[in-house]
Formats: sequence, C-alpha cells, structure tokens
Amino acid sequence: MPSVDIWMNMTDEREVIEVIEVLAARPTVEGAGGRLRRAFSHAEVPRFDPFLMLDDFRAERPSDYLAGFPYHPHRGMETVTYMLEGIVAHDDSMGHHGAVGAGAVQWMTAGSGIVHQEMPRPVEGRMGGFQLWVNLPAEKKLMEPRYQEIEAGAIPIYRGDGATVRVIAGEHVGVRGPVAGIVAEPTFLDVRLEAGTAFEHPTPSGQTTFAYVYGGDGAFGPDGTVVSDAHVARFGDGQLVRARAGEAGLRFLLATGRPIGEPIAWRGPVVMNTEAELAEAFRELRDGTFVKKGE
Ligand code: FE
Repeated sequence: MPSVDIWMNMTDEREVIEVIEVLAARPTVEGAGGRLRRAFSHAEVPRFDPFLMLDDFRAERPSDYLAGFPYHPHRGMETVTYMLEGIVAHDDSMGHHGAVGAGAVQWMTAGSGIVHQEMPRPVEGRMGGFQLWVNLPAEKKLMEPRYQEIEAGAIPIYRGDGATVRVIAGEHVGVRGPVAGIVAEPTFLDVRLEAGTAFEHPTPSGQTTFAYVYGGDGAFGPDGTVVSDAHVARFGDGQLVRARAGEAGLRFLLATGRPIGEPIAWRGPVVMNTEAELAEAFRELRDGTFVKKGE
C-alpha cells in the first residue's frame, strides 16, 4: 500500500503528461440502428493515431441494440471489443463464432479481410461495453486475420490503495495483460478508483495516450483538468499519466499506443493508406473475392 511519501517520491511534475483536449462523446446511430456514443472518429484523424475510433455502447435502453451489427466487412485495421455487461455474440466468414461476455475482451485483427456480424444481447436487462478501432501500418494491413479472445477471469488485476486496474494489454505496476503481439504495442487498462484515490501510470515517450471516463469524474494531468462521464481526454507526450478520482470515484479506460504516422484512407469499416486501395477493397466486396482466408 503506497504511502504519501512514496507517492511524493515517485512523481516529478515535469514528467506528468498534459491534457491536450477533452471531447464529449457524440450520440451516433450505427449498424442496424443501434444508438451509441462515439468519443472520437474520422473528424479527429490523425490526432489519436494509431487509434481510429472509440464507441461507447452502454445502454439506457438495451432494446436499442437488438438489431445489432449484421454482416459487414473489415480490412486493414483491428477492432477491440470490451464488455462491461451483457454479451456480444459474433460469427464470421472464417467460420469463427463465439460470444464476448461481461469483463471479457476480443481483440480482432481484420488484416486482409473478414466479414462478420456482431449482435449485442442484454443479460438480465443490462448491456454495455466499448469498441476501440486500432489502425495497422501498411506492411501489416493485409496480414492474416486473427483473434485474441480473453475471458473475464483471465484478465489480471492490479489492486493498489483504492485502485483496481484490469490490465488487458501492456503492463501496469508489473502486472502484464494477456493480449500480445499487437503492432501498435498498446497498453489498454480498465481503471476503477475510489473517491480521492490517486493513480499514476508510467509510459514511454512518443506514445499516443487517451483516457475515456465512463463513471464518476476525476482530475487528469499536471493541472488537474476535470474529465467527467462520457468524455475522452487526449494527452500530450511525456512519461507519466496522472489522475485523481473525484468524490464519486472514477472509472476510465486508459490506452496508449505507438503512432503509425502513415496516410489514412478510411471508408466505413475499411481502413487503408490510399484511395486506390479502398476502391480495390470495395471492388472485391462486389466481386465476392474480399475474404482471402478460411473460405
Ligand atoms: Fe465489426
């Protein structure tokens, strides 16, 4: 249990990463009519590079989601589905099927292309989770598709003084997450802090870092920028993410990743480098040659 002295010693004001911007997630209708909140997307390119988009589909009315996300393609990117409540049942063009339940994560690398459907299902009337899109660099855009599916119980938890951190990818205070081998070398944490609890996360320089708050509020960065529910804070460069929970506690996702720095040509669920590559992908969809593996 860290004492105040340790807290003082481990910090250095000059290293704490500043909050560059705070964005409110925008109500959006997606898929077959599902209502969700979108924290960032096309309009923010390339500020969140290597991250493309973050959707928050916590539901006030789970029935909003029953239409789900019927069959659609992906190429050139990865989708990360992380569930809080309910499940997302999925199946795809490679014959893969399953369900992502509460506390579980699916890290899907679309690579050369998959066609899948994602159907959210409330459990005991409750439904909620997130989907993060992560870009792939040119040399990996057409890699073989793959999944990493991690059950809730297989996600390790760091427990500190007032902090509970589920480590999905990357590392936090010596606890390493199970998602591995991702090009962007991401860290992806689900952080829960009790009221007033301080949190620090060291990160290498040169990373893109954001925090998405989904419960309570907290003060982030050296100036204590307050970020509340359904808002994303994007950080500048530096070595240390700092947060302190407000009086109602704080829950947030923290993600860091190495920027790719390439041109982005993005239409719907296909993310390539050039318009010609997009045109080729959509031509293959019409011709029935989009999926390269597992047919
Ligand atoms: Fe999808």
